[in-house]
Amino acid sequence: MSSSATTQTQTYQMYVNGEWIASNSGKTFPVYDPSTEEVIAEVPDSNAKDVDRAVAAARDAFDNGPWSSSTAQERGRVLFKLAEAVRQNTAALAELEARNSGKPIVEAEYDMADVATCFEYYGGLATKISGHVNPVPDNALNLSLKEPVGVAGQIIPWNYPLLMAAWKLAPALAAGCTCVLKPAEQTPLTVLELAKHFEACGLPNGVVNIITGFGESAGAPLVQHPDVNKIAFTGSAAVGKQIVKMAADTVKRVTLELGGKSPNIFFADADFEAAIDGALFGVFINQGEVCSAGSRILVERPIYNKFVEAMAAKAKTIKLGPPLERDTKMGPLVSREQYDRVRSYLEIGKQEAKLAAGGDRPQDIERGYYVSPTIFYDVDNSARIAREEIFGPVATVIPFEDEADAIKIANDTSYGLAAAVWTRDIFKAFRAVKKIRAGIIWVNHMQPTYVEAPWGGYKQSGFGRELGPWGIEEYLETKQVHINLNEQPIGWY
Ligand code: NAP
Ligand code: MG
Repeated sequence: MSSSATTQTQTYQMYVNGEWIASNSGKTFPVYDPSTEEVIAEVPDSNAKDVDRAVAAARDAFDNGPWSSSTAQERGRVLFKLAEAVRQNTAALAELEARNSGKPIVEAEYDMADVATCFEYYGGLATKISGHVNPVPDNALNLSLKEPVGVAGQIIPWNYPLLMAAWKLAPALAAGCTCVLKPAEQTPLTVLELAKHFEACGLPNGVVNIITGFGESAGAPLVQHPDVNKIAFTGSAAVGKQIVKMAADTVKRVTLELGGKSPNIFFADADFEAAIDGALFGVFINQGEVCSAGSRILVERPIYNKFVEAMAAKAKTIKLGPPLERDTKMGPLVSREQYDRVRSYLEIGKQEAKLAAGGDRPQDIERGYYVSPTIFYDVDNSARIAREEIFGPVATVIPFEDEADAIKIANDTSYGLAAAVWTRDIFKAFRAVKKIRAGIIWVNHMQPTYVEAPWGGYKQSGFGRELGPWGIEEYLETKQVHINLNEQPIGWY
């Protein structure tokens, strides 16, 4: 009660062509604190006209502005300054991120460190983009040059709001692209706060534009816009499929990161304590709202019963609570919509399998979109809870008989983002590494993510890779230049 008395609703504008503006329609929409269900901000509700304005600014900054003629060193320095701005404002940014997304403050602080590191990494990489000399069989010099793809449209989700913005903006800026970024409707605040530093960090007007709005009214016009050269999207598979279709008419470059149903595989010889820890961390970190969540926990028969018991016992000790309290280990889900979606899967799961822990909202917390860490076991891999991405704190435990059975179940999914395998037998581990069809495979760990290493999926988890040098390649075109060194006519006619 006392907290609502102190709650202030702040009205934000959005950042287009270096200016803070309202939406063309003048409409705004509310942004919530999912732990109190209260409105904490209002942000502009953009439509196609706002998208036009932002794209025109990005187009002009690319075609005529200083960004495409800037040197790689200059772009790198801007990225270092952005990293510094994040580091200096970590406490405030982390607090806002935790309030708006529901994630525990300690996790939000890790996110801010990763945001800064991402800007630094690509600040350094800006000066390492180089072309090739191609050994063509002629008296000629044949080169391949790397050039920025142009205007990038970037559409991101709500689970790691500022980190997903950094994963998109940093490589694009290093490459020399200009950007129009649409944060998720649920979590637009931290990137708007960061935008307050853009000018001081040396970003010219129009180079990065942030438009707030909904997928259908702001995201779709961005994807269809003829002046946008590339779309980078992270989100659901359903929307990813629509994006590919919408982008086809203008043959945009598209990269997609679409989540998954990642297997976390435990062989009987794995260290038992580390295994239980790894199973819980893999699926419950960030309330389970993680694209690479280890949501299918495959356990070898000899340890299966003991494993389910130990996991359930420890899951019941996970501390749920307000995101801003430092001992909170799990906050609320991001929104009413996500809460309803996850709870509907709890009901489906109760029909499909047995319940070892959770299964409802915590009884001791009155409001907020909290869901108890939930473990279903004796799950068949054909069950909906084993096939569909739930994106919440819901684990499905599936027993397996032997190595071949484990690999078969692991690969029996339409997704292929990540997987983990736990064993002390290196032969078994490496056979699994080779046989599992996924873009990221961890051995005796799950979830560590590094800006230096490639991130992205196989199959319906998407295409293209973020992070590392792979991430910057997705914002570059390759130009062939052939320089003839024969001064005589070719004499063909
Ligand atoms: P979503 O709809 O795919 O949202 C992702 C982003 O795409 C948001 O910015 C969204 O805008 C935008 N978008 C939605 N429809 C669009 C369209 N027609 N054209 C262009 N952009 C569009 O995901 P969600 O509704 O937030 O969550 C639904 C499910 O998606 C979750 O339960 C989870 O399974 C999955 N998900 C996966 C990831 C991941 O990292 N792979 C992240 C988030 C969610 P709005 O904000 O207006 O929706
Ligand atoms: Mg949506």
